[in-house]
Amino acid sequence: MTQIKEERSLQVIIFNQRIVSLRIRRRAIISALRTAITDHNLIHVLYQPIVDASDNRIMAAEALIRLSDPHLGQVSPGEFIPIAEQIGVIREITTIVVSKVCSFLSRHAHLSDNLSHISINISAADLASVEMGGRLLPIIKEASIEPSKIVFEVTESMLVKNYQQVLKNWNLFTGYGVHFMLDDFGTGYSNIESLITLPFEIVKLDRSVVTNKKNDYQLLSLITTLLRRLDKQIVAEGVETREHLEVAQRHGVHYIQGYYFSRPVDEEQLLAWMESSMCIVPTARSPRT
Ligand code: C2E
Ligand code: CA
Ligand code: CA
Repeated sequence: MTQIKEERSLQVIIFNQRIVSLRIRRRAIISALRTAITDHNLIHVLYQPIVDASDNRIMAAEALIRLSDPHLGQVSPGEFIPIAEQIGVIREITTIVVSKVCSFLSRHAHLSDNLSHISINISAADLASVEMGGRLLPIIKEASIEPSKIVFEVTESMLVKNYQQVLKNWNLFTGYGVHFMLDDFGTGYSNIESLITLPFEIVKLDRSVVTNKKNDYQLLSLITTLLRRLDKQIVAEGVETREHLEVAQRHGVHYIQGYYFSRPVDEEQLLAWMESSMCIVPTARSPRT
C-alpha cells in the first residue's frame, strides 16, 4: 500500500518477497539517517581529486558523502540521498557535509593554498529554500576560510524549481565569494539556456558523455565545442581508462575526475597529496577492481 501511494503512476504492483526486503532496507536506511543526523561520526566525507588535464596535478577535489551504520555497513549516497530527499532531511545532510569540509579546510589552512577548491553537492531543496544562506553562510564564515575554496555543484533540474529563490541564493553566495558549478551536463535535462542565464564558470560533463563512443565520440565533440565557445572551464567525470583520458584531452577538456586517477579517498590521503607536490600517478589497477 505504501509503495502504491508513493508511486502513483503505477497501476499494478506485484507484492512479493523482494518488495518486503526493499521496504525493510528502506526503513533501516531511514533509521540510520535519523541517527546520523544527531551523531555526525556516522557520516564520512571522502574526496575525489580533480586533475589538471595538462600536467596531471590535482587542482581540486569533490566531497562525496558516505553513511556508516553498524547493521547496514557503508551505504552509498546513490541509495540514501534520494531517501533523505523524500523524508525531508537532505538539508541537514548538506549542512553536515559543508561543516566537515569547512573544518577540514580550516584545520589545514596552510595546505589549502595548493587546492583551488573543494566542491560540494547540494540538493534542490537547499537551492530553493529561503534559509539556505542563513544556514550555510555562518558555517563558512566561522571557519575563517577563503570562500572561493567552496564550490557548490548543482544540476540543471535544480534550477527550474522556484527560480526566483534560486537566483537569490545564487547572488547571496556568489556575492560572498562562493562559486557554483554545473554538474552532470549532457544528461536528459540538458538545457543550453541555463549556461547563458546563470554565469557558471565550470561545467562538469556527465560520465555518460565521456563514455559514449558512438560516431567517434560525437556527443563529447558537440558538447565540448559548445562549452569552449562559451568560455567555460570543462571537467570530465567518470574517466576510467587511458582512452577516456586521451579522448577528453583531444576535445579540450581542462580537468579530469575519475577512477583512472583515483577513487574517492579519505582526508589523510588527500592531505598526503596536498603535502607533497599534488602530483598523482594513475592507478595501474583495472578500473573495476
Ligand atoms: P555525482 O555528483 O555524479 O558524483 C560522482 C559519482 O561518480 C560518485 O559516486 C563517484 O564516486 C563516482 N565516480 C567517480 N569517478 C568514477 C569513475 O571513473 N567511474 C565510475 N563508474 N564512477 C565514478 P558516489 O560517491 O557513489 O556518489 C553518487 C551520487 O550521490 C553523486 O553523484 C551525487 O549525486 C550524490 N552525492 C554524493 N555525495 C553527496 C552529498 O554530500 N550531498 C548530496 N546532495 N549528494 C551527494
Ligand atoms: Ca557531483
Ligand atoms: Ca554525475
